[in-house]
Amino acid sequence: MLTKQVKTYPSRIEEVKNSGRYRMLLSEVDIQRRTKELAEKISEDYRGRCPVFIGVLNGSFIFIADLVRQLTIDCEVDFFKLSSYGDAMVSSGEVKLKKDIDCHLADKDVIVVEDIVDSGLSVKFLNEKIMDMKPSSLRFVSLLVKWDNAQPGRKIDYVGFSIPSEFVVGFGLDFEQKLRNLKNIYIMQEQD
Ligand code: 5GP
Ligand code: MG
Repeated sequence: MLTKQVKTYPSRIEEVKNSGRYRMLLSEVDIQRRTKELAEKISEDYRGRCPVFIGVLNGSFIFIADLVRQLTIDCEVDFFKLSSYGDAMVSSGEVKLKKDIDCHLADKDVIVVEDIVDSGLSVKFLNEKIMDMKPSSLRFVSLLVKWDNAQPGRKIDYVGFSIPSEFVVGFGLDFEQKLRNLKNIYIMQEQD
């Protein structure tokens, strides 16, 4: 049970509601509709097979949960954890593996699930790492792709939405580790 509150916490969720700093880009309804379409396409493409979905933590945890629940085929699920942004709003340019998967990918159909592709560095890193494990196939799905600066170094096979090159939060995507639990996706403007 929560006892006496010792310090007042400046709520980011309240800030999203009350400040002009956030602009809604995609609603919960938009996201659910598109996720279902992607799941239907993937189910069709992989009918009779059992792909391994690999979520990229932390950002994709909500998207992958919704995506796999809309599939009509069997699947396995595992997770990588990567870090490139830290708490900043721009990529550090260096991708680090913070958690490895537990399963073997040799001869498996693998589908990597990303929240967003920005510089494309994470995708490039994962593509090389997974190809070394000799899967029988490898595809990428990303809920969002920034249209201006995505240079993925490989094709994103299933794209939810192409979006402008702005910093977005919500639906798994954080700012300083918060706001992942927002149901909608918002553009967050930098403060002057
Ligand atoms: P990359 O630059 O390697 O394509 O993107 C790496 C990761 O940075 C993404 O998977 C995501 O976790 C994070 N990222 C990229 N763009 C944004 C953004 O606009 N907002 C948030 N919250 N994270 C982002
Ligand atoms: Mg990510």
